[in-house]
Amino acid sequence: MLPLACRVTPPAVALRTDIGTVRANDSATAERLAVWLEELVPRIRALVPGTNELSPDVWLQTRIRLRPFESVPDNVNGITVGNDRILLRESDRELRETMCHELVHHSLAPEWETLPTIIEEGLCEAVSERIAARDRTRFRVSRLHGALHAFGGFRGELLIAIDAGERGAIRESIPFRARDDQPAGAPIHDALTLRGGMHDVFAGRLGTRHYAVGYWIVERILQRRGFEGLHDLAVRAVDEDRETIPSDWIYDAAALPPDSTTWSRLLVERLTFAEVTELARTLASSIAERTAIYLDRNLPADYRLTPDLSEIEISLRLVDVSHHIDLLAISEFRKVLAEQLESFERIERRRAVLAMAKPRYLSTGVAR
Ligand SMILES: [Zn+2]
Repeated sequence: MLPLACRVTPPAVALRTDIGTVRANDSATAERLAVWLEELVPRIRALVPGTNELSPDVWLQTRIRLRPFESVPDNVNGITVGNDRILLRESDRELRETMCHELVHHSLAPEWETLPTIIEEGLCEAVSERIAARDRTRFRVSRLHGALHAFGGFRGELLIAIDAGERGAIRESIPFRARDDQPAGAPIHDALTLRGGMHDVFAGRLGTRHYAVGYWIVERILQRRGFEGLHDLAVRAVDEDRETIPSDWIYDAAALPPDSTTWSRLLVERLTFAEVTELARTLASSIAERTAIYLDRNLPADYRLTPDLSEIEISLRLVDVSHHIDLLAISEFRKVLAEQLESFERIERRRAVLAMAKPRYLSTGVAR
């Protein structure tokens, strides 16, 4: 939360409801937001212990602006300012989920202020998943994916089997590693002691990966102690005059060993088949590109795969996960693989034509 300074012009249309006010640039959008507001707030109050009765003022903005000439970073889709105002980004593809997330921040009674920032963020995400997400598996997996990257990425193997009849067979396992190149920000143990909200985000100490880890930790606490149990920690910290819940209370409630190098395995080994499938779907195009390169290098130059790819099997297995995911059952994977193979074939044909024309000179100059 940030203190509210000088004025930004509000969106043109304001709608007042029993719960609060919504503002947008057109009335149809304002009405949609009003419906969500009236649906989400009572559900948040029913689910989360320790909520207030304050009326939110929700603004939908093209660019999120706290002050007239200052907008927030592009990866921030919502922000709660002071005690009443919530700013949301019009182009957010998870607008309803983000609105719910911000309404949770807004609804929390003062005792919740003892939560470290990333645990409060995790709580908002956990509530949003339960009452606002259109596809809970997709919502969960996108956060768990972020948490895995915070833990240094994840590993697995691609299992490729090709039965080309008389031309022979291939059966191979190719190591697979997923890492992203986002800035790491504060180490996770340090992040768990921060209670600065958006200031830490602006300063690069906290990012979406930390929020994702917060979500995963909160989910573990909710599984063991429910929302009441998490609330009890916040109340106990207030009773003991602490500014923030100590990290060891959080590790204890989430049944997490303090050594965070083990957390990645703890996350991965509990993934369900549906979650691993969804994770594979988010990785589909990059895995398909790698698979196409492998096939192009390992199949005889004159060998053409059948259009339905019926002679190949490609599956993904992540380290510490027992499920094998059939990648060819994922349409995005098939589509990108076919496109890549097609483009390799075009390069091959062009290379053949060029090689016939001027073999020595041109055939070495084609990048591959
Ligand atoms: Zn938040």
